[in-house]
Amino acid sequence: MESLRFKAINDLTHSNGTAVEGSAKITGIFGENVFTLKTAREFLSDEAYKSLLTSIKGGKKIDRAMANQISAGLRQWAESKGVTHYTHWFQPLTGTTAEKHDSFFTLKGDGSALETFDGDALIQQEPDASSFPNGGIRATFEARGYTAWDPSSPPFIMEIGEGKTLCIPTIFVSYTGETLDYKAPLLKSLEALNKSAVEVCNYFDKNINKVTATLGWEQEYFIVDEAMFNARPDLVMSGRTVFGHAPAKGQQLEDHYFGSIPERVYAFMRDYETESYKLGIPLRTRHNEVAPAQFECAPIFEEVSVAVDHNTLLMDIMDRVARRHKLRALFHEKPFAGINGSGKHNNWSMATDTGVNLLAPGKTPKTNLMFLTFFVNTIKAVHDYSEILRASIASAGNDHRLGANEAPPAIISVFIGQYLSKVLADVKERVGGKFDEQDEAILKLDLHRSIPELLLDNTDRNRTSPFAFTGNKFEFRAVGSGANCANAMTTLNSIMAATLKQFKKDVDTLIDKGEKKEIAIMHVIREYIVASEKVLFEGDGYSDEWHHEAERRGLPNVRTTPLALDAMVTDSSKHLFEQLNVLNHVELEARHEIELEKYIKRVQIEARIMGELCTSHVLPAAIKYQNTLIENIKGLKEIGLKEEAYANQKQIVAKISEHISKVSDLVEKMIQARKTANAMTDSRTKAIAYQSQVKDAFFDDIRYSVDKLELLVADDYWALPKYREMLFLR
Ligand code: ADP
Ligand code: MG
Repeated sequence: MESLRFKAINDLTHSNGTAVEGSAKITGIFGENVFTLKTAREFLSDEAYKSLLTSIKGGKKIDRAMANQISAGLRQWAESKGVTHYTHWFQPLTGTTAEKHDSFFTLKGDGSALETFDGDALIQQEPDASSFPNGGIRATFEARGYTAWDPSSPPFIMEIGEGKTLCIPTIFVSYTGETLDYKAPLLKSLEALNKSAVEVCNYFDKNINKVTATLGWEQEYFIVDEAMFNARPDLVMSGRTVFGHAPAKGQQLEDHYFGSIPERVYAFMRDYETESYKLGIPLRTRHNEVAPAQFECAPIFEEVSVAVDHNTLLMDIMDRVARRHKLRALFHEKPFAGINGSGKHNNWSMATDTGVNLLAPGKTPKTNLMFLTFFVNTIKAVHDYSEILRASIASAGNDHRLGANEAPPAIISVFIGQYLSKVLADVKERVGGKFDEQDEAILKLDLHRSIPELLLDNTDRNRTSPFAFTGNKFEFRAVGSGANCANAMTTLNSIMAATLKQFKKDVDTLIDKGEKKEIAIMHVIREYIVASEKVLFEGDGYSDEWHHEAERRGLPNVRTTPLALDAMVTDSSKHLFEQLNVLNHVELEARHEIELEKYIKRVQIEARIMGELCTSHVLPAAIKYQNTLIENIKGLKEIGLKEEAYANQKQIVAKISEHISKVSDLVEKMIQARKTANAMTDSRTKAIAYQSQVKDAFFDDIRYSVDKLELLVADDYWALPKYREMLFLR
């Protein structure tokens, strides 16, 4: 039988790609499948519209009667677009999104049919969601959690083939009140940040009443041909290739980065962009990334909770559209060893209701002081809570990426560029012991002069920092490509909220002692600069020297997920999230447990697929080829040739033999190690065992021999698509 590999290669040469409809003008379709405020205006009564608006703006509850009106309007809108079903759409801790579709159709008491969708159906739903991870919060016998409407994200219509479904964004909560999703804590962290940030803003401007966080993510991904994908069980099962020898040509020429987008991929991009626009996702850029077959897209930034919805939606859309084009989008952080992994840079800032970006240098000395305040508080937040921030991006996939090719290390540091480094040094030096109003006025002017308004174009770009200031926002680069940004964003908002809260306290204490407000602010800023200096790093984050330097500075460098996750449940973490009402300690412990379980499962799956591929693909191919060689040697001997005529073949047979024994021996031992780990009951111990006794102890060694065999065995015996085929053929 022809192997899937050769069938894939063959099919590829006959593929014409999938046609896409001529792309419509973006403005014509943008948001057409979203229940925007404009649509709401059209389909709701004045009263219902106002109620919706206040609930979006102020988080105010919507009463039953209003909910009935809103749901009626929603259904009318949805039906006008051919929708027959609705679903509560939520983001469970598995990392994907979840839906359970119900139809508008129902039966009345007398058996006649009726289409309905009432306020109750809008506000609350009880999915049979007992199999979502809950970290032990919900015992399965009372396996009931419910989803609750989140009016702050607009409902939308998902089109899948001919089917259209009205999706209601919701949060997912257990009956005892604990949150079971990514969205609820994110919303709470935004509330906390709003509160702290507004108070600090009011030092500078009394007109500021609301602060929101903004997020612009950059999504990296790989694209492979579907038939190739299907011929690689490891990609199918674990999202990454566990074997594969490096291709003769990798990314060293960087020709892909600068090259034009391949036609088939381009068609796919246009297709998913069109779908995204309909859902109001403001995609703006698309380009090739550094590694072959790697790409990136990024939208215009939005308010964090909307941006998070849009990113999860986009991943879902890309996955579906890719299949339509007989391609697969890979969101794993490291699908191919030896070349770049994929990240999801999270560009983050804060914006006021007066239209000010709090991380953009100001136009006046006063607004610049406000900028400096938020800037320094961010650095202090990252310094004080770096381990919690590290934990927020920890995953089995990201462990392969952090610290590998072209990816930030697991050390959290902040890059700010030369201008701002100098500004901070200035403040540190000049806001000394005696610092009066005159000094303050001069310093403020000087600072204003030394912070160029258009830092955006002046910031030196350091691509190696996990957390870099890029002119008017911070870019958190350590986030994994497959992650839900909510986790990182919840943490970032929270550590910022807590730091600003403390800042307000510290400044007020000085004011109470009789200090003038702005001088008090300067003093606290100076104090924070000194306290957090060690987290600043301007050099090459990829270098070995930085690892040594970071160690000398006492910065944590936690390389593996099971240990990085410890920071979720420290006293510092519990105090942080609990004081802000973002997550209580029960929720934190549950989430910790869930993350450990996710880690264990992912490594377990990788280990299993490795074992299976070895016994069912690698070893049979190697043995078969070895037999061919043996036959050949026998034949040569038989016809009376001398030893040197088959010496080479003998050597190859010996090498193959050596790797065969190695692989089968290691696979056997790995199975034993897994058994030992599986018997462990404590999740943390088990996760550490999977990391050190299964993954670290075996993965690389098994891979080494398998990859050697790939080179030794004749090409037509090898059933797994090779790196060069997956990365370069399309
Ligand atoms: P570059 O990385 O080339 O400098 P941009 O500065 O345009 O590109 O932005 C990169 C990403 O940062 C984009 O997704 C953009 O929307 C986002 N971004 C820009 N400004 C902000 C902001 N104030 N808050 C959050 N994200 C932002
Ligand atoms: Mg990038």
